[in-house]
Amino acid sequence: MSDEQESVEEFAARARTWLAANMPPADPTAGYFSFHEDPADSQAHADRRIAVCRDLQARLFDGGFAGICVPRQYGGQALTPAHQAAFNRELRGYDHPLEIQVSTFIPCMAVLLELGTEDQKLRHIPKMLRGEEVWAQFLSEPSGGSDAAGALTTAVRDGDQWVLNGSKIWTTGGWYSDWAMCLARTNWDVEKHRGLTVFSFPVSAEGVDVQHIQLLNGSREFCQEFLTDVVVDDRDRIGEVDEGWTVMGRWLYHERTVAGGSPYVTTAGAKSAALPNDGPAIAALARRGGNLDDPAVLEAVGEARALSMVSEAMVGSVSRKMASGALPQHAAAMLRLFSGTATTRRTTLALDVAGHEAVVWEPGDEQLASVGLGYLVRQAAQIGGGTVEMARNVISERLLGMPREQRNDGGPFRDVPRGPAAG
Ligand SMILES: Cc1cc2nc3c(=O)[nH]c(=O)nc-3n(C[C@H](O)[C@H](O)[C@H](O)COP(=O)(O)OP(=O)(O)OC[C@H]3O[C@@H](n4cnc5c(N)ncnc54)[C@H](O)[C@@H]3O)c2cc1C
Repeated sequence: MSDEQESVEEFAARARTWLAANMPPADPTAGYFSFHEDPADSQAHADRRIAVCRDLQARLFDGGFAGICVPRQYGGQALTPAHQAAFNRELRGYDHPLEIQVSTFIPCMAVLLELGTEDQKLRHIPKMLRGEEVWAQFLSEPSGGSDAAGALTTAVRDGDQWVLNGSKIWTTGGWYSDWAMCLARTNWDVEKHRGLTVFSFPVSAEGVDVQHIQLLNGSREFCQEFLTDVVVDDRDRIGEVDEGWTVMGRWLYHERTVAGGSPYVTTAGAKSAALPNDGPAIAALARRGGNLDDPAVLEAVGEARALSMVSEAMVGSVSRKMASGALPQHAAAMLRLFSGTATTRRTTLALDVAGHEAVVWEPGDEQLASVGLGYLVRQAAQIGGGTVEMARNVISERLLGMPREQRNDGGPFRDVPRGPAAG
């Protein structure tokens, strides 16, 4: 029987057998590397974890479970979102390359699949699926991330090449990424959304200076990049010149599917052992503290569980409706908003239940460390992948048809007031 004819049930059964034989169990103390206990060891810990992720991704590829919805000519399995969802369900309890799903597969691979040239797809997607090419998003700039169209990084054409100058910031995994997808301004004399172009280039290219940013929880995952005369071949341009905003539409859409519903993401979802703030994880904290029969604690456990269940149900329902056309693609903003606010809330509930022990934990206690350190960066869930305020804008303007917010950035971008002058 060909793979195209394999039913979801048969595929899930095959995946179950393969996972048991080939993938290691999830390590409940590993967590997402942002939550490592010892900031001094954060970098080495993250280095080790990324090496593990690359290896796990290669295993998925060798087993025929990478790129489940990606066409065969690019190394994928050409199956359906239902097959990917079934695989994700089977994956629960196993370690998997969670940390490289974003940005490599969404939005970068998804954008290449939709808008890349055949040459770009053939050069990059098989390597992404084998864990050999990890990608980063060079999008946000020090001048602001929400207003992506206000990019100041500039690309100037020089024959078959482009020369890029500027700075990008808040790049997830900039230091461990092999390639970057980068938004740059190619025309200052047209309206701001019209003069943008998307490029790709190796992060190791001459002129790319990657600097770590240390967060409150000790993580050094985020980076700022300084681009100085970075030369990029025209064949690494994604989409048409000055039409970068068209590419951005798909880029931002796929980024919003980080909340769930993407057919390109391999993750065990809300029940991943890596989440320290799911209902069962909070119940475990309460059990450990001996206060599981406290009504206030039970309420917190119930709330966290309900938030997880609603998130999961909402992802399923909204994704199905977007796929069938019953909801527009902008509906991904609803997932973004709910998952962002729910994640922050669950992190707060975890700290409430764990109490003071999650503020001054004993050395080596990864469970309490992940709760305390997670609390310090709890708002990141409402910022990364576009802020929840921007998701609210999309919902009100694009889904509910409310009036668009006022803009004062018309005319040639060169003349648009910036910084304090923008008032
Ligand atoms: C976990 C995480 C991962 C990230 N990964 C990446 C990455 O890989 N690559 C990358 O390029 N960036 C990344 N970012 C950066 C992220 O995209 C930006 O932080 C985000 O877009 C907001 O931009 P800003 O921080 O510059 O805030 P600003 O855009 O300056 O906004 C400041 C505040 O004003 C609000 N605001 C701004 N404009 C409006 C508006 N029109 N209406 C209502 N409210 C508004 C915002 O919601 C926010 O609360 C990441 C951030 C996080 C937290």
